[in-house]
Amino acid sequence: MIQPAEAAADDRPLRTGAEFLDGLKRSKRTIFVNGERVSDPTRHQAFSGAARSIARLFDYAAAPENREVMTFTAPETGAPVWRCWQIPRSHDDLRAKRVAAERWAEQTFGLMGRTPDHVSNFFAGFAAKPQLFEAGGKGFGANVTNFYKFARDNHLYLAYAIVPPQIDRSKPAHQQSDPTLYAGVTRETDAGIYISGGQQLATGAVFADYLHLSCIHPLKPGDEAHAFSAVIPMEAEGLKLYSRRAFPMVANSAEDYPLTSRFDETDSFIVLEDVFVPWEHVFAYRNLAVTFDQWWKTPSHSYGNHQAQVRFATKLRFLSGIAKRLNEATGNDKAPPVMVEMGELAAYASIVENMLYAHEMVGPIDEDGIVWPSKPALYSVMALQSQINPHMIDIVRELSGAAMISLPSSTADFDNPETAADIARYFQSPEIGARDRVRLMRLAWDFIGSEFGSRHQQYEKFYGGASFLVKMNMFRSYDFKRATTMVDQALSILPA
Ligand SMILES: Cc1cc2nc3c(=O)[nH]c(=O)nc-3n(C[C@H](O)[C@H](O)[C@H](O)COP(=O)(O)OP(=O)(O)OC[C@H]3O[C@@H](n4cnc5c(N)ncnc54)[C@H](O)[C@@H]3O)c2cc1C
Repeated sequence: MIQPAEAAADDRPLRTGAEFLDGLKRSKRTIFVNGERVSDPTRHQAFSGAARSIARLFDYAAAPENREVMTFTAPETGAPVWRCWQIPRSHDDLRAKRVAAERWAEQTFGLMGRTPDHVSNFFAGFAAKPQLFEAGGKGFGANVTNFYKFARDNHLYLAYAIVPPQIDRSKPAHQQSDPTLYAGVTRETDAGIYISGGQQLATGAVFADYLHLSCIHPLKPGDEAHAFSAVIPMEAEGLKLYSRRAFPMVANSAEDYPLTSRFDETDSFIVLEDVFVPWEHVFAYRNLAVTFDQWWKTPSHSYGNHQAQVRFATKLRFLSGIAKRLNEATGNDKAPPVMVEMGELAAYASIVENMLYAHEMVGPIDEDGIVWPSKPALYSVMALQSQINPHMIDIVRELSGAAMISLPSSTADFDNPETAADIARYFQSPEIGARDRVRLMRLAWDFIGSEFGSRHQQYEKFYGGASFLVKMNMFRSYDFKRATTMVDQALSILPA
């Protein structure tokens, strides 16, 4: 486990990719995939590509030339720490956070959702409002602040599992067939609490240092054992990660699956078997109100999803670029109907991107001097993401015809003397040779049609909650009073 940081000088180095990989290699976490217990994710085919991609993010932030963009000065230590931990106190601060998130998202083409700047942003939101946790007693507010500083100062990578399993959603947690089916506290001592049960679905947990375990779904009276908020080191005794099918285990050629092989961050179902959590890592306990309010009465959900929107906008820019190159390769780029379709694609990408500026420009400053991203700007895109993303994908499918399918079976066909000449002849384009064309189409297919691409479509639908819930957030955030006042005014000027 990583030790707390000493107060440090300004030029203190940041955690590097090599340090991240080395820590992961030595970590004794319990990961299962494909019937196997994984001893070293950095060398396992399921995870090694993604581990290297994450390591590059650490290096990017640690590079002196990126320091100004990627870090801010921790007030207590004077040391540079990642921007994602910053609690914005001005619109410029929020803009700086957006730019840093954009830089990291660009390193993965927006294809890794739970990079180290996601859950850290939630914790910046928690730390902005320690009084909410303090109201729950037991010094929980101080616990939040202390853990926030510890994680921030050590450049920690956090993942989270905050949704109950889909075992039987017709009943609340405490009425399940076994009360320890959904992650819940089974006993407490003077030293801490013990948790057992399952929770979904911790993206990136295989690589992270700590897991935030809590519940974002509304809990019911009687569910108090499940109403907590806590962090757990990934090496904790009794904590098990069940990775979903890891796509690089099959789609392992970097040439044929350029995205799968590098960016499959994996999603893990979490199982806890009597996991001990010391009190200092507990932020809410047997408290339905605080467990719920932590997401909505602090800026945590807004900060985390502000970062998620930056990532989404980056990914849509990448998708637009793929579509443009694809049209160029098929020679359709200048056809007016294709330009119209591309205009529609670009319109969606631009709406998402430009709403990021709205988050910053009209984000309110609260009574503690803390800036929140604008909720209407944030939730309006999130509410429609479930429609925008598949629609954009469908436009690219329409534009591509058989371009992503009518390809040699793999790059090995280029190397077979019996097939090489035909492949070079029939898979070329006026703009590019056969090898580059096939590479481009494989990239497009990996984005859109591979198992990795398909998981991404599910991710964009559900990473921020089911769309009916996000639309409820939008319902609560929109200024309907202003809208209905207009209606009243229009009615009032009608003749009596
Ligand atoms: C790829 C991926 C990555 C994820 N990563 C994370 C992560 O890192 N951490 C994490 O904690 N979670 C993560 N999640 C889980 C995510 O938070 C949940 O999937 C999400 O909250 C939706 O919950 P659910 O899956 O239980 O779906 P449900 O809530 O069961 O909803 C599924 C569908 O059921 C219907 N439905 C259910 N209830 C209602 C209702 N009351 N009214 C109307 N319709 C209803 C709707 O059609 C809805 O779309 C991830 C999910 C995916 C798919």
